[in-house]
Amino acid sequence: MNKPAMPNSFRTGPDEQGMFGIFGGRFVAETLMPLILDLEQHWNHAKNDPAFKAELSALSTFYAGRPSKLYFAEGLTRHLRDISAAKGLGGGAKIYFKREDLNHTGSHKINNCLGQILLAKRMGKKRIIAETGAGQHGVASATVAARFGYPCVVYMGATDVERQKPNVFRMKLLGAEVRPVHSGHGTLKDAMNEALRDWVTNVEDTYYLIGTAAGPHPYPELVRDFQSVIGTEARAQMLEQEGRLPDVIIAAVGGGSNAIGLFHPFLDDKEVRIIGIEAGGRGLDGVEHCASMNAGRPGVLHGNRTYLLQNEDGQILDGHSISAGLDYPGVGPEHSWLRDSGRVEYEPILDDEALAAFQLTTKVEGIIPALESAHAIAHAVKIAPNMAKDKIVIVNLSGRGDKDVHTVANMMGMEI
Ligand SMILES: *Cc1c(COP(=O)(O)O)cnc(C)c1O
Repeated sequence: MNKPAMPNSFRTGPDEQGMFGIFGGRFVAETLMPLILDLEQHWNHAKNDPAFKAELSALSTFYAGRPSKLYFAEGLTRHLRDISAAKGLGGGAKIYFKREDLNHTGSHKINNCLGQILLAKRMGKKRIIAETGAGQHGVASATVAARFGYPCVVYMGATDVERQKPNVFRMKLLGAEVRPVHSGHGTLKDAMNEALRDWVTNVEDTYYLIGTAAGPHPYPELVRDFQSVIGTEARAQMLEQEGRLPDVIIAAVGGGSNAIGLFHPFLDDKEVRIIGIEAGGRGLDGVEHCASMNAGRPGVLHGNRTYLLQNEDGQILDGHSISAGLDYPGVGPEHSWLRDSGRVEYEPILDDEALAAFQLTTKVEGIIPALESAHAIAHAVKIAPNMAKDKIVIVNLSGRGDKDVHTVANMMGMEI
């Protein structure tokens, strides 16, 4: 593959067309174009408006509970040092968790939802729509819609509605309408198609609250900017707590919002190694994984050009992961660009490895991580024993695992 020339900064994208190199853009129906341009204009004003920033900051503090802590995971560090010693290496890097699991609604998703609901308000929109897979983004959207008094429709694949009943009920309690989508395999990709269709039909009054750093420009940029609070905080906290930058930072990649949120403020710190973790599912040989950057090809889906899981005819595949939040056949376009430019490494972690990391973290830290986050932890478990003791790794703990206990019980052959 041809590597694009190394830019001076990795933090300047996208360009005015919404491109990150050859990725991104806005491949949408003509009827959507005025909406997207309107959104872009409001976003460009909002991001430079002190009043907008102040309102978001107050909500982040008093409603969502920010800043989230940067926590030294002493139990996990000790465990990995024991492994390192047993291998005769005598190392074991220090592990820190960025605690997005402590946020209101239990994950990083609230950061983006608070930002976008303020944008909707600014645009004078009266109705919120969202797509959801596992239901985490649906719950976060329904939450901010309730807080701001907007009606909210959440599109969710019919298969997912069956699989994620507690979240469906939560959304209903919060006042949202959940619309099951029966097309395709009834999963996230189909829900996103349906939400885009709704948006085209209800252009006047509707705001589409996208849940990850994907979709047509300017969504990948604005979601990244709302999530960058993670990396901005983590960078400052690390400087304060350790007096230096970390050696490695790791995050799980579904659509890529928690990962780009952690990564972006570190992209120009050349000494920091950055690793994104894709869902390796049951292995990259077959089709039961969601590793679009390790096993996919560039194509166009949901309004942008990016790495996608597709068959020889360009049909989008569904993919598989133990974790519903990583179960998206594409990835945000900025990640595709960071992959090709070589700044960020992307590695797969298998279902079994994530499950083991889930159980380990629960036992040695007393923290039940989301299965998505467990993928990132699993990679730290792999590399930390081979690193020296004075090295530092930050893992993004993107969410809490309460939502996953049924899946885990199933995998362990137990019944709750
Ligand atoms: C949704 C979700 C993810 C994956 O989404 P990204 O946009 O890739 O961050 C990861 N972790 C948790 C806890 C989630 O809820």
